[in-house]
Amino acid sequence: MRVVLQVQDHSQQRKGQSGIDAIESRLSVHTWKTNDPSKYLAYPLEKAQVDELTRKFYTQEKWRGWKFRMFCSRKSSEDRFLNRIADRYGKDCRVYHGDCRGCNPSPTVGVRHLVSKRFAVVDIDEFRTSVTCNVCKSKLSRYTNRRGRLLHSRLCCSTCGLEGNRSKRFVDRDINAAANVLWAGASPERPPCLRRSTSVIQNAFAQTSLQSVLRENRVTPLPQDGRC
Ligand SMILES: [Zn+2]
Repeated sequence: MRVVLQVQDHSQQRKGQSGIDAIESRLSVHTWKTNDPSKYLAYPLEKAQVDELTRKFYTQEKWRGWKFRMFCSRKSSEDRFLNRIADRYGKDCRVYHGDCRGCNPSPTVGVRHLVSKRFAVVDIDEFRTSVTCNVCKSKLSRYTNRRGRLLHSRLCCSTCGLEGNRSKRFVDRDINAAANVLWAGASPERPPCLRRSTSVIQNAFAQTSLQSVLRENRVTPLPQDGRC
């Protein structure tokens, strides 16, 4: 991964020095996500001009070599990542993936796709996994430091802390959520403290059904705020 980042930095420097960044920034003032035909046509026209101006840079042998090196390094890094999982948990292990159902798309979709090439992946609803203590299963509270700043990544459990010398037990939100995703996946049925209410389930089911119908008919739903 370090090699990939080094090559990426070097290639970005070369693009900046060659003026490619400045040329490609001309596209940022256009968009094809519009209902205005004149604005819609402006984007491909500008894109064609930008492609013509940058073709010489992107087709040079040195650039193609960098891209190939980045590709090889990335594939090597991905293989090492998958091999580490196989070495630690076995080739036939099952991977539980936190899935944000009915919420924003998860930023780990790329990792999920990569892992699913070699292992069985099970999607687990992430509902309440980060705010439920993975030890005592009580609800965690937010943490504010001495300066009064709210730290999103850290939560605290008063119930666990009462058993030890400390008044509170501090947990990392992501680590706690991963432990709960594993617990929910390994349980024969979803634990009650991680379940959604009936209305939320019905709403999520309705959204899923609507999305499947739209997908089958190749219809793209409009955004919630009505913008284009
Ligand atoms: Zn606890």
